[in-house]
Amino acid sequence: MKLLEDRILRDGIVKPGNILKVDSFINHQMDISFINELGREFKRRFSHNRITKILTIEASGIGIACIAAQYFGVPVIFAKKAQSLNLDGEMYIAKVESFTHKRVYDVILSKKFLTEQDHVLLIDDFLANGCALMGLMDIVKQSGAVLEGAGVVIEKGFQKGGQMIRDMGVHLESLAIVDAMTDDSLTFRADN
Ligand code: 5GP
Repeated sequence: MKLLEDRILRDGIVKPGNILKVDSFINHQMDISFINELGREFKRRFSHNRITKILTIEASGIGIACIAAQYFGVPVIFAKKAQSLNLDGEMYIAKVESFTHKRVYDVILSKKFLTEQDHVLLIDDFLANGCALMGLMDIVKQSGAVLEGAGVVIEKGFQKGGQMIRDMGVHLESLAIVDAMTDDSLTFRADN
């Protein structure tokens, strides 16, 4: 998506450890009219899917998912990061390894918000090694809902997550795929 690539080139910052910071327009300060265009693009790319819920993970996926949801006309549910303490049987639980914080945590979702009647679209800001999406896919599997696909704003194509998830047969749409990045250059996948 050219609009997104241009904005990343203009305002994205490459940090050590293969981290791309987009916190001036996506995941700290949020440029709402810009993110609105991302939401419209997700709808275009999943226009043939019947979606009943959008599932994301706290925190930075929530805002994007909410804006996208207005195009789909469906609720957003988000998996919460939780302590393992006091979890009862009413929750789906999955383990996620954080790319940015380098630790494993549980994410939970109340069973009452996702059932086998649902058709789910996953949304997140970044795809790196795929742990966040794999955790969400685990929750969808536990619920018996149908996974319609996954939409991410920025895929880091030099990490393994995108390939792994596509190899599982999931309809994955990334609005921009960064194939290489250094302090002063970013290369995007051309045919995306
Ligand atoms: P994964 O689970 O695919 O390894 O990483 C995805 C999660 O890690 C996303 O939810 C995102 O919050 C965070 N993340 C991964 N790479 C980056 C990055 O380069 N920049 C930022 N800001 N977040 C990232």
